[in-house]
Amino acid sequence: MAELESLEFGKSDFILLDEVTMEQFMENLKLRFEKGRIYTFIGEVVVSVNPYQHMDIYGKDSIEAYRGRELYENPPHLFSVSDAAYKAMKRRAKDTCIVISGESGAGKTEASKYIMQYIAAITNPALREEVESVKHVLLKSTCVLEAFGNAKTNRNDNSSRFGKYMDINFNFNGDPTGGHINNYLLEKSRVVQQQPGERNFHSFYQLLRGGSDDVLKSLHLDNDPALYTYTRQGTSNNDRSSHKAVLHALQVIGFTEEEIHSIYETLAAILLLGNLEFVCDGESVSLSEPLALTEISALTQTDPECVRTSLLYRTVATGGGDVIQKEHSQQDACFGRDAFAKALYERLFAWIVGRINSVIEVKNYNPVLHGKNTVIGVLDIYGFEIFDNNSFEQFCINYCNEKLQHLFIELILQQEQEEYEREGIVDYVDNQIIVDLVEQPHKGIISVLDEACLTVGNVTDTVLLQSLDQKLSQHPHYSSRKLNPSDKSLEFQKHFRIQHYAGDVTYCIDGFLDKNKDLLFQDFKRLMFSSCNGVLRQMWPDGQTSITEVTKRPQTAATLFKNSIVALVQKLACKEPYYVRCIKPNELKSPVLFDDARCRHQVAYLGLLENVMVRRAGFAYRQPYERFLQRYKMTCEYTWPNHLMPTDQEAVRAIVSQHGFDADVDYGRSKLFVRSPRSLFSLEQERNQL
Ligand code: ATP
Ligand code: MG
Repeated sequence: MAELESLEFGKSDFILLDEVTMEQFMENLKLRFEKGRIYTFIGEVVVSVNPYQHMDIYGKDSIEAYRGRELYENPPHLFSVSDAAYKAMKRRAKDTCIVISGESGAGKTEASKYIMQYIAAITNPALREEVESVKHVLLKSTCVLEAFGNAKTNRNDNSSRFGKYMDINFNFNGDPTGGHINNYLLEKSRVVQQQPGERNFHSFYQLLRGGSDDVLKSLHLDNDPALYTYTRQGTSNNDRSSHKAVLHALQVIGFTEEEIHSIYETLAAILLLGNLEFVCDGESVSLSEPLALTEISALTQTDPECVRTSLLYRTVATGGGDVIQKEHSQQDACFGRDAFAKALYERLFAWIVGRINSVIEVKNYNPVLHGKNTVIGVLDIYGFEIFDNNSFEQFCINYCNEKLQHLFIELILQQEQEEYEREGIVDYVDNQIIVDLVEQPHKGIISVLDEACLTVGNVTDTVLLQSLDQKLSQHPHYSSRKLNPSDKSLEFQKHFRIQHYAGDVTYCIDGFLDKNKDLLFQDFKRLMFSSCNGVLRQMWPDGQTSITEVTKRPQTAATLFKNSIVALVQKLACKEPYYVRCIKPNELKSPVLFDDARCRHQVAYLGLLENVMVRRAGFAYRQPYERFLQRYKMTCEYTWPNHLMPTDQEAVRAIVSQHGFDADVDYGRSKLFVRSPRSLFSLEQERNQL
């Protein structure tokens, strides 16, 4: 392993630490962060610490320096892994993936963008037009997805509120021919409600702040986010300039003017929906703002009367096959309105992703003519989240992180696992038990949750919690409120806790049932399918089903999410993995503060120390004590001419000590592990000279 950088910057690979201890790891990480060295290797894994400041290390010169080089030829960088993944793909025709993980604000999305830029920069040297256009679309898609899928949270001003996995396809030349984006669980509850200090998705503010007067007028909007319930609490970022950039990106990708306008119309309809209030005169419920209704109907190109009835009534099929209209209570009407707004946004987002995919999908690829079509996948998915108030969304996100951590354990830590276990070298935490707690059929939390959603009758969140407690209180990673019977506070009685691999998270059960059922009255689906706007109609194909046909229960949100994550893990598992492990140095977005406790916690739960041990052992030369002794006994006075030590291991220790490389070895039960070949070279030399 080349030590390219001077030691003043610390060790560029954690494998080179004198001793693999948390203390040494942290010391090195901190030293490097303070010296502006934000990347460090663990073998092929890159550990990244968010610098929270502009770094001049991503330009053309850097790209050239890393292009086609071996990992150890340059200081650690995102470009090193990108190039390694690219080389594996190109030279060995391997499908590879780069998994970027870390908590919210740790720098995953920024890393994924640099990786994409690198791959774009090193491909297509012949500047072939069709390849250039694929690259452009891939790069621009990020900007669009960020506008619609990211939001300001208390952890991160540009937090991804959806998971993204992007496959880039390559031809036999190693040039991109297309791609595909999978999106995971958009946090749509944000459309109607945000925690204090947070914002709705960027797209709303960008339209309001950046849209021209004419556009806003045609959308029946004013330019002030404070006028709309759904965007009221957000302050402004760089929304105006971002609006331009996003519009440009949409055009480059190939969205038509009509499509772009339909996107804005949907955003406007959502904002106006949010301002609708319902009044109840004791008997019936009506709308307080009839004008907004007309505007919503104009924006969605639907019949105003149908919009009104969809908001105030729900159509139900009676047992006898009749269809009747049931009036909503005020509460149901509000629930329906919000569910509609969320669904409009979610479907818009999914449609945008689908539309981008239709542009970048690989066309006319003939494997016989063109050779194997290889893939590099880049995964940027929400990191582990612990908030003050954790709900269904955090539950899903954290489950997803358990799955990915488990994959990491399987792929990286379990390499040659048996060997290490036999030798007692590595002891890592296997989180399978937590994965099972969530996803096991019949017994896991998702099963219990689905069961409660299917039960007819008055099942409330409290009943759900009781049933979770009943079924899972024996589980070592689940704590029910009953564990603390002295705490009688009502608040506490709404919670359950999971001991995740990354820490304990207390979830509040409020809203779990509704969010899992994800109920949207059929009337809204049919309303949108009746739209005269073809783009909108495309987003609501299920609106064509007639009310009497709709009997099958749709899958719950948790189950859909679980299935998509299981599929994702399968996809990743059959590729050669490269990892970027991101660390957030502090909570204050400061470029100079290294919060030791926070970083230590992340290093621990990301399993980085174990990673070092495995890589170290993996790289190392290792030999049974007996064989080592046979070869080198003549180099030490305690073993030659006579073996004076009580055991082979002690004899080996004596040899190692005498040659002064104690710090370079680990003693397993039956084998010696040597970190760097240098020590062995010196031994060999001495042996040869004898
Ligand atoms: P989330 O899970 O919330 O989406 P994330 O891990 O994707 O979080 P990013 O959005 O990538 O986090 O990073 C948060 C912020 O940190 C960025 O907006 C940027 O200000 C800063 N940052 C991250 N990486 C870098 C970098 N390499 N150079 C400079 N600043 C960075
Ligand atoms: Mg992100």
